[in-house]
Amino acid sequence: MKVWECPYETEVLQAVQSGQWERLIHSHASVCAICQEVVQVAEWMQVLAATPENEPALPSPAQIWWKAQWLEKQAAGEQATRPIAIFQHVACVVAVLSLVSLSAWKWPEIQGGLNVFKQAWPRDWSLAPLTSLSLSLISLALGLFCTTLIATLYTLLADNGLGKE
Ligand SMILES: [Zn+2]
Repeated sequence: MKVWECPYETEVLQAVQSGQWERLIHSHASVCAICQEVVQVAEWMQVLAATPENEPALPSPAQIWWKAQWLEKQAAGEQATRPIAIFQHVACVVAVLSLVSLSAWKWPEIQGGLNVFKQAWPRDWSLAPLTSLSLSLISLALGLFCTTLIATLYTLLADNGLGKE
């Protein structure tokens, strides 16, 4: 098996790597087919070493910008609705706690009021038999219900408004 070799190969290779061509080597490389091939391969190897081809391609700047904008918007939306969500939870807890504590505290009176309500309601449909306590309880429950409802609606509207942007 015949191997094509040139005695100047090593010098030509060094010249390509260093970029410094001696006159004799340069003139030889311009006429020697083997050395021309060495130059081509060496140059190609240098280009390959310079470009990180094995690394995954970076996303385009437009893509990065778009994603940053999206993340910013998401964060802003979360920040905007967080106080509402906290208020909603607090309102629910307060409503439940006040109803429970009020019921426990005024239970005998509630029972009495319910008995009066039960006895009086079907007969003449009058609100007169209701004690002031039961009226205040009903208005309190209605008020808390309305507060929770408004908070829920506000949250839903805020969510929709941010989603449309
Ligand atoms: Zn040669």
